[in-house]
Amino acid sequence: PLQTPRFKRILLKLSGEALLGEKTFGIDAKVLNRLASEIKILIEAGIEISLVVGGGNLFRGAELQESGMERVTGDHMGMLATVMNALALQDAIEKVGIPVRVMSALPIDQVCEEFIRRRAVRHMEKKRVVICAAGTGNPFFTTDTAASLRAIELETDAMLKATKVDGVYDADPHCDKAATKYKTLSYNQVLEDGLAVMDATAVVMCRDNNLPLLVFNMTTPGEIVRALFDPQVGTLIR
Ligand code: UDP
Repeated sequence: PLQTPRFKRILLKLSGEALLGEKTFGIDAKVLNRLASEIKILIEAGIEISLVVGGGNLFRGAELQESGMERVTGDHMGMLATVMNALALQDAIEKVGIPVRVMSALPIDQVCEEFIRRRAVRHMEKKRVVICAAGTGNPFFTTDTAASLRAIELETDAMLKATKVDGVYDADPHCDKAATKYKTLSYNQVLEDGLAVMDATAVVMCRDNNLPLLVFNMTTPGEIVRALFDPQVGTLIR
């Protein structure tokens, strides 16, 4: 393990699914509390943190479309779902004593701040956690693409993508025992081999702007902190 963190300013991408815990819909308070306590450790270690949270535990536009809803309306619901998740995370982070602000790509002034880049950077410099909600604010995008966008415009050193596996494998490790984990990868290899890391829009954004991406497992307690101090954790794509 390292004495100093690998990255000084990060963007952590959490999927909505990550908040499910043992539930099938909604938000598990146990997961929120664990995330909050790990984020507290990182803030106290001097790391500047922005978060992007998904909405898949509540609504996804593409799934709503399958049940007959207009896609754009479904995407609006999906983006609002991310705002709910962001508010839940804000509450949990505040309760462990860390200052935090939700900033939404869609203005909802009575509920949270709207995303203004300079203000977001200022919050991070003041050691406040910034939670970027409502994705990019546009339909047909994903929160992975929103995370790439925010990570780049907020000049973070890396994006950390929290998943259910401990890195990127050459085959699905849940099905194939011979699957091996990549220590490092290039973005072009991810695209050429069709590796299921993020959608292509998000991958291309990272590649074209030289943003390193660390894929790691967040279901293991303590792993978010380890991801910053142990170079063995996860797969680094650059
Ligand atoms: N969404 C959108 N524009 C964005 C980001 C998200 O329309 O910029 C909608 C989209 O419907 C998506 C939903 O919000 O399905 C939830 O986001 P996502 O599926 O990325 O969440 P995750 O899979 O990370 O939980």
